[in-house]
Amino acid sequence: MKRQTHSFDDVLLIPQYSDIESRSEIDLSRQLGRRIFSIPIITSPMDTVTESAMAAAFGEMGGLAITHRYCDMVEQSKMTPFSAAAAIGVTGDFMKRIEFLMADSRIDTFCLDVAHGHHILVERALKSIRDKWGNDVNIIAGNVATPKAYVDLSEWGADAVRVGIGGGSICSTRIQTGHGVPTFESVLTCSYEDGATIIADGGIKTAGDIVKALAAGADFVMLGSMLAGTDESPGDVFVSNNGKSFKVYRGMASKEAQRDWRGEARSLEGISTTIPAKGSVIDVVGDLLQNIRSGLSYSGARNITQLQAKAEFIVQSAASQVESSTHILRTK
Ligand code: IMP
Repeated sequence: MKRQTHSFDDVLLIPQYSDIESRSEIDLSRQLGRRIFSIPIITSPMDTVTESAMAAAFGEMGGLAITHRYCDMVEQSKMTPFSAAAAIGVTGDFMKRIEFLMADSRIDTFCLDVAHGHHILVERALKSIRDKWGNDVNIIAGNVATPKAYVDLSEWGADAVRVGIGGGSICSTRIQTGHGVPTFESVLTCSYEDGATIIADGGIKTAGDIVKALAAGADFVMLGSMLAGTDESPGDVFVSNNGKSFKVYRGMASKEAQRDWRGEARSLEGISTTIPAKGSVIDVVGDLLQNIRSGLSYSGARNITQLQAKAEFIVQSAASQVESSTHILRTK
């Protein structure tokens, strides 16, 4: 048997001496390939998270949005503004799609978007892209769960690797296939290796989780559920009988998404659900950034590199997990 692993909720960061007098002293910028982003948040390439409105909002905030690939290349190009990135597959017309998007949308950042990234098809795709375009493109690839996979994808040519398998809020991979590793654990173990930029992906549900992911070694976090339900996420708003507003959020391997994009559903590894409407993503991310900056301040860190150097994690007991929640709600 392998050793025990930990998830975001299992751990806490120990507060440390801080000489930071204002949150404005904290710099959250991070580099990906040849580009620098002012916030360490990337949108998930899902059809209920990222199309043109989300991409435009993230461009405005200095973050990176990745448009989903579940449409033809002309449609994807229309929803991908100059400063965004585009997801692509690793079979079929993916080389043509890159060529088209580079010419039509003038973008240079692509995401090889595959559930099991430590795979021969990803290896071949990464090598073909590098052979053809060299360093003219930034490539994000994934998803992976282990340091070996992270190092391999880095060596095959990825500038950034999405780390996390089975942790997504709408994901049923671990239930359906028995495979996966807690995202926190994957990020921590990958960070011990030399390799590409790390994007923590799947299961991030609070600003605290974002701080923990960054402290564990992630350069960026990728968010699905935390950005779904905003005004800028694709899809209609539904109003329930008691007047509450909702939007659909669904896994790309859910029955509903597969039926819409492929015409049939097989090998289900995700679910579709509704989540409360949250208003503008600019406000949602603005609140997150305040909390993330406070998080860095608690560790006495002025930037993410300092946070990673100073971070000290402890593992919580079950009782301390209760204490860490807003536990008065449990007795009401
Ligand atoms: P969340 O931020 O916890 O909601 O997770 C979002 C992440 O879940 C995405 O960035 C993908 O890596 C992953 N994901 C998206 N769709 C599916 C699916 O249908 N099954 C499993 N994982 C998925």
